[in-house]
Amino acid sequence: QSEEQWREVDAYMAQKLIGADPLLDAALQRNSEAGLPAHDVAINQGKLLNLFAQMCGARMVLEIGTLGGYSTIWLARALPEGGKVITLEYSEKHAEIARRNIEAAGVGDKVEIIVGAAADSLPKLQDRAPFDLIFIDADKPNNPVYLEWALKLARKGTVIIGDNVVRNGAVTDPQSEDANVIGVRRFIDMIEAEPRLDATALQTVGSKGWDGFTLAIVR
Ligand code: SAM
Repeated sequence: QSEEQWREVDAYMAQKLIGADPLLDAALQRNSEAGLPAHDVAINQGKLLNLFAQMCGARMVLEIGTLGGYSTIWLARALPEGGKVITLEYSEKHAEIARRNIEAAGVGDKVEIIVGAAADSLPKLQDRAPFDLIFIDADKPNNPVYLEWALKLARKGTVIIGDNVVRNGAVTDPQSEDANVIGVRRFIDMIEAEPRLDATALQTVGSKGWDGFTLAIVR
């Protein structure tokens, strides 16, 4: 099967089940004009995050890795009045574009962006915990650090999602010297060994190629 077909199926499903969304299109347009990498989740995965947040009745969401705020907007839209997404971003430039996108999407009151290395910001969030849903989508070599903090900032029932864990299949290669693959493999090892987590992982194909995510719930 070809990537062209994956893209067609994504477009078909998005058109049928999600529909036109000029505000999200505008966010992607602003990202591209500002030269941000197109590392946002695909539209159907953005909607999946939104559905997960609705399914667990999330009020407090933690996102690690904002980029231009595309996934942030999807998550914020799922929250009730008074709900918050706290999203961590290293790059001031990315955060600035994200602020604009989030305001323009009308969810500014539901989002707080914290600029800096996530590993420095996470310890400062202990008085905002527990979070109901945590989405890990930043620099993959630090995934083990992020999972450790996610567990500290969680409660029983918290949903933890880790993106980009398949990496074109490279995740199964124990000899890989790619720091991203090594980070993801350590992350998977930690989930395996963590009695507090009940987890699975799914491979995905589509407009973003071949990748996947882990999904876990804290027992
Ligand atoms: N979640 C976003 C979305 O789907 O729209 C995509 C996030 S992108 C895959 C990863 C982001 O993590 C980039 O914006 C990058 O600047 C940021 N990042 C990289 N290293 C980081 C760090 N140490 N702390 C916080 N953010 C970091």
